[in-house]
Amino acid sequence: MASPIADDSPLPCQRLSGKVALVTGGASGIGESIVRLFHKHGAKVCVVDIQDDLGQKLCSDLGNDVNVRYCHCDVSIEEDVSRAVDFTVENFGALDIMVNNAGVGGPPVEDIRNFELSVFEKVFDINVKGVFLGMKHAARIMIPLKKGSIISISSVASAIGGLGPHAYVGSKHAVTGLTKNVAAELGRHNIRVNSVSPYAVATSLALAHLPEEEKTAEAMDGFRSFVGRNANLQGVELTAHDVAMSVLFLASDESRYISGVNLMVDGGFSCANHVLR
Ligand code: NAD
Repeated sequence: MASPIADDSPLPCQRLSGKVALVTGGASGIGESIVRLFHKHGAKVCVVDIQDDLGQKLCSDLGNDVNVRYCHCDVSIEEDVSRAVDFTVENFGALDIMVNNAGVGGPPVEDIRNFELSVFEKVFDINVKGVFLGMKHAARIMIPLKKGSIISISSVASAIGGLGPHAYVGSKHAVTGLTKNVAAELGRHNIRVNSVSPYAVATSLALAHLPEEEKTAEAMDGFRSFVGRNANLQGVELTAHDVAMSVLFLASDESRYISGVNLMVDGGFSCANHVLR
């Protein structure tokens, strides 16, 4: 079922008017929805990704608006993150909102005895080091400005085990810890730091374990049916736009006293019996 609050529905106001945002992993999936929603709400947005073709296509879909720019950046490389943050400030004059969304699932290895260290490190490089670098370089700009909102996309797997490969689940728990600790440090500078933890959304990450030729519409339908069956909230499909709406709230001044929170967007999954059916 599509989100009842569709991308093209009329919204009452521009909740990010005058703000500048950077969204990592913004070229596809949840990140793309965040970029589209932020743009719609009046923000200037820097889209950051390693998929240059998709990033450029998104800018073109948004009419090559001067308020949306693309910057190539691998979030696991500090020079890239630093350059992307500087690019945003040079183009738009500030950085008010940092969204650390880029992430990978990694292959579905369940037996820890077969879990290659190189695979573990790759997932942590993107999902944890990438988030840390995003926080670090956003803070470099936001501290002198005495304001800012940093939001990291975590996962329902940040709160409970048994929901995916060890590296992925461990990395998302680490994002929660980082969020709390950085929120504790940056509060004195009027910078809020939060994370958003979605239940399953049908994106390419969700099918990452399949070979390219098997990432078909049928596979996506199978994924939807599986997650629908195992969801706590029955009859409602979580969409990327639903996740983007919660990020919009944390980015806007409406949430100005909320910091250090891991906002679960999981329909109650993490507080119910989560043994998959
Ligand atoms: P996706 O694969 O559609 O999007 C991820 C984006 O990140 C892609 O555009 C990819 O190119 C980019 N990316 C990957 N590695 C990068 C790197 N090193 N540097 C820069 N960009 C990089 O996946 P998604 O489902 O939209 O995932 C977005 C976030 O949401 C991730 O952090 C993921 O863990 C989280 N999440 C997803 C789900 C889900 O079911 N889809 C559930 C919970 C949390």
